[in-house]
Amino acid sequence: MFAQLILKSGRDRSVVNRHPWVFSGAIKTYPDAENGDVIAVVTNNGQLLGYGFYSPKSQITCRIFHFGEAPAAGFDAAFWQGKIERALHLRHQLIDPKTTTCYRLLHAEGDFLPGIIADVYGPVVVAQVLIKGTEHIYPMLEAALLEAGFKHIYLKQKENSGFLEAVQLPKGWRTEPCPMPVRVQEHGLMFDINVETGQKTGFFIDQRENRLLTQQFSAGKKVLNAFSYTGGFSLYALAGGAREVHSVDISKDAIARANDLVELNFPGAKHLGVSADCFDYLKQTEEVYDLIVLDPPAFAKSAKAVNNAARGYKELNMVAMKKIAPGGLLFTYSCSQNITPDLFRKIVFGAAVDAGREVRILRQLSQADDHPINIYHPEGEYLKGLMLYVE
Ligand code: SAH
Repeated sequence: MFAQLILKSGRDRSVVNRHPWVFSGAIKTYPDAENGDVIAVVTNNGQLLGYGFYSPKSQITCRIFHFGEAPAAGFDAAFWQGKIERALHLRHQLIDPKTTTCYRLLHAEGDFLPGIIADVYGPVVVAQVLIKGTEHIYPMLEAALLEAGFKHIYLKQKENSGFLEAVQLPKGWRTEPCPMPVRVQEHGLMFDINVETGQKTGFFIDQRENRLLTQQFSAGKKVLNAFSYTGGFSLYALAGGAREVHSVDISKDAIARANDLVELNFPGAKHLGVSADCFDYLKQTEEVYDLIVLDPPAFAKSAKAVNNAARGYKELNMVAMKKIAPGGLLFTYSCSQNITPDLFRKIVFGAAVDAGREVRILRQLSQADDHPINIYHPEGEYLKGLMLYVE
């Protein structure tokens, strides 16, 4: 009843091992199916491996959402509702609702739901649908979210999603709108999030636990939060007793929001918001910091861009290392999926050599735990960080 995609013999290994992506190069016979259809993936010997969404124009030609036999009732509303219930069950174990009201609920392959991410901001769910197959089942996912008690759903187009299939779902509020901004808490700090105008779904939730780590090391320090966006790391640094915090971001609006959030959480705190390019700022400033956070946007948006991105990360880390007081800390991140943890470490090594500083790795960091990494899908580990001691 489902069209079959047949893998080449000798090219089925990764899917047998539950990797959810079927690449075009591994396909022997294409299914007789349309973009977005659910198809069956089988080996050249006719063994059924699983079911996925068909994307004929993409290099990732099928994204598998279910391994093994199909459930007796098929992929019906209850099947998709079950996926959402399991995602919620995990979040209930991770998130303390008394202090944190924003979190990622659906992390695509990390929740066995390719093609969708959904972030929760109090009563609001912001969803991004990335492929046609997920578009087809989206009404069932939405019904399950409403059933789970979320009051407002906002559908947002992912930036630079042009390379994926055009998803035609109407964007914007899918329910009664929630007045913006919506106030949420993260580890007890207050954030006002505008899901309509903010970057990504409104906030960079993936850094929550790394922000808390910064808090633990900020007491008495002069802190630079480079690529601050609305000042997430800055608030945590102040919560941890930083003596002074500077937030730098190229977006004037982000800096205005950061200033507002500091006033809201820590009225009168010693905080300076600067709207500037962080490369220029770090090269030109005469300030020296005890602790620097570097959280740039993804420089490598594609595999082809990796070399240029590596140069960018190296330069950035090098100039930052030069502005750290002896015995200071650098928390440096990369959210480019195409830069592996290993490569990132090599890049930072190169920066340390060029900066001529003694540098030690204290911790290796990753994305927050509500962005789970499917062990069979290492590509899901996109955020890497290093906590460095700079002598
Ligand atoms: N650390 C933030 C998230 C940073 S996202 C948090 O915890 O919320 C990356 C930020 O870098 C965005 O706010 C973007 O406006 C900013 N940005 C992009 N290019 C920049 C540049 N060259 N200089 C300064 N900021 C830049």
